Amino acid sequence: MKIGFVGLGNMGAPMARNLLKAGHDLVVHDVVRTNVDAVAAAGARPAATLRDLVAHAEFVLTMLPSSPHVRTVYLGEDGVLAAVRPGVVLVDSSTIDPHTAREVASRAAAQGNPMADAPVSGGTNGAAAGTLTFMVGAAEALYERIRPVLATMGKTIVRCGDSGTGQVAKICNNLVLAISMIGVAEAMSLGDALGIDPKVLASIVNTSSGRCWSSDTYNPFPGVMDNVPAARGYCGGFGADLMLKDLGLATDAAKQSRQPVVLGAAAEQLYRLFSAQGHGGLDFSAIIQLYRKDGAS
Ligand code: NAD
Repeated sequence: MKIGFVGLGNMGAPMARNLLKAGHDLVVHDVVRTNVDAVAAAGARPAATLRDLVAHAEFVLTMLPSSPHVRTVYLGEDGVLAAVRPGVVLVDSSTIDPHTAREVASRAAAQGNPMADAPVSGGTNGAAAGTLTFMVGAAEALYERIRPVLATMGKTIVRCGDSGTGQVAKICNNLVLAISMIGVAEAMSLGDALGIDPKVLASIVNTSSGRCWSSDTYNPFPGVMDNVPAARGYCGGFGADLMLKDLGLATDAAKQSRQPVVLGAAAEQLYRLFSAQGHGGLDFSAIIQLYRKDGAS
């Protein structure tokens, strides 16, 4: 299939490579030239403009930082919707706010372009391995059309409901994740300060009612687990600034629907403080550094 791919960053580049490996004819675009060159070296054709990209595509996929970038790429004067032929299928896999996802999809549908939101979880490792989870917001028929393409980049493809619900699932999951990570960081730091061996504490939590992914798979306390960011100075993984962005999406969406997110708002403030201290590039589990008296990493 002729696929246009826009946004070749940490996630987009490995996703594009998996589409190439599956034999798709890929045309790619990014505002950063070196990102385009890296994927072109693997066999994709570079497009200098979005107009050039959509002229050669029957399917367009985007993987952009956030809502404003998605608005620019789809709704901008020289954006996708200004140039795309009716019938071309559009899929946005960026994590953005559900309101923007629904607005862009409805403007695309009005000119004859079916559009789905399909944000992902699984991180850069999942993107490279082709094991991402896609959370899809689309009508059933559109979901069936895009599923085979998504399956070349992911292992679990879930239809969450109609337009925007993929983004709803994504931001709600990350809201739970941020709050649970802060909860584990707080408890592990308290236990350490009160004199229990952190490994012993983690093993108790992990077989008791406090067990959760942030504790048993991604524990933030250094020395408790191998192969997690806490074991390598919080490098790699899922950046604290990206978590801050996702918490902002959740609290904004909550405001629009007049729904309280008390712990989510507190989590957003903690991540904002951490980012303001210059740590936004560290993995999000490094939030534990706010709790440790020695600031140890
Ligand atoms: P990134 O910043 O590495 O990549 C985004 C790319 O989009 C960059 O190459 C940038 O140059 C390009 N871009 C920006 N504006 C553009 C424009 N107007 N036209 C063309 N290209 C443009 O981000 P990422 O880590 O790849 O994340 C992408 C999305 O996936 C984000 O919404 C993020 O929240 C989500 N996500 C990331 C992870 C992760 O672990 N990194 C995991 C799950 C979901």
